[in-house]
Amino acid sequence: MNNIDLNGRTAIVTGGAKGIGYAIADRLLQSGATVTVWDIDQSRLSEAAATLTNAGTVSTDVVDVTDVDAVTAGAERALSAMGKIDILVNNAGAVGTIGPVWEQPVENWERMLKLNLTGPFLCCRAIVPAMIEAGYGRIVNIASNAGKVGIRNNSPYAAAKAGVVSLTKSLSKDTAKTGVLVNCITPGGVNTELFDNLDEKYRQTIADGMELGRLLEPTEVAAMAAWLASEDCSFSTGAAFDISGGRADY
Ligand code: NAD
Repeated sequence: MNNIDLNGRTAIVTGGAKGIGYAIADRLLQSGATVTVWDIDQSRLSEAAATLTNAGTVSTDVVDVTDVDAVTAGAERALSAMGKIDILVNNAGAVGTIGPVWEQPVENWERMLKLNLTGPFLCCRAIVPAMIEAGYGRIVNIASNAGKVGIRNNSPYAAAKAGVVSLTKSLSKDTAKTGVLVNCITPGGVNTELFDNLDEKYRQTIADGMELGRLLEPTEVAAMAAWLASEDCSFSTGAAFDISGGRADY
């Protein structure tokens, strides 16, 4: 593991009770940051806190990223507890119902957009002003390779993640002269519980689509996120960083 210096930095990681978010919170803690983990799953949050505490100063808060009032209140609590928010990792998300466009329930389309796209928008909206006031910030949005190249049978998720890439680019222009840099990561298939509700055939299709021939590990995404969350990332903003094992070649 390379050393990334986040000493003195503070971070919020959304959806960090498990999976990629947990791995990112762990890596930020190991790099010296103080981290607040947001999630809707209270019991998994408690489990996460019990192990993350070995890596550094961590606290947890039950915040639903789709609820504007909850996000506003959570941001205020984090600001008063940590004194500032240097890093925001918008990671909370889910894949929803699998099926071709013509079989997709409208409710699933709306739920996917609300969780995967409106959620990051609400978190940025609530936290960016404090970053601008401080003159420093790093935002890392977890999009998906599906948002770049599309994906069979998962159009609502892919469309929402394409929106996250676009939100990243527009927000980066809004904040360009403020010290706040905004980037996103577009992972291929990652080995997390997100796949547990999907059938094995779907999981295999995702793994087969990666030229490197395997699913990605959450810690590999976390390594990229930690660099993007650091001062070493100083001249990249509005970019989509690929980590898809060669699935996308741009
Ligand atoms: P996961 O299901 O393992 O973890 C997601 C976490 O988000 C859970 O702890 C869940 O409780 C939390 N969450 C869900 N809704 C929430 C809400 N409204 N508010 C707050 N927290 C909420 O998923 P994962 O595989 O770790 O995925 C994390 C992110 O990475 C997601 O945005 C996902 O779309 C993205 N991603 C995943 C993959 C993959 O293959 N696993 C690939 C590309 C991108």
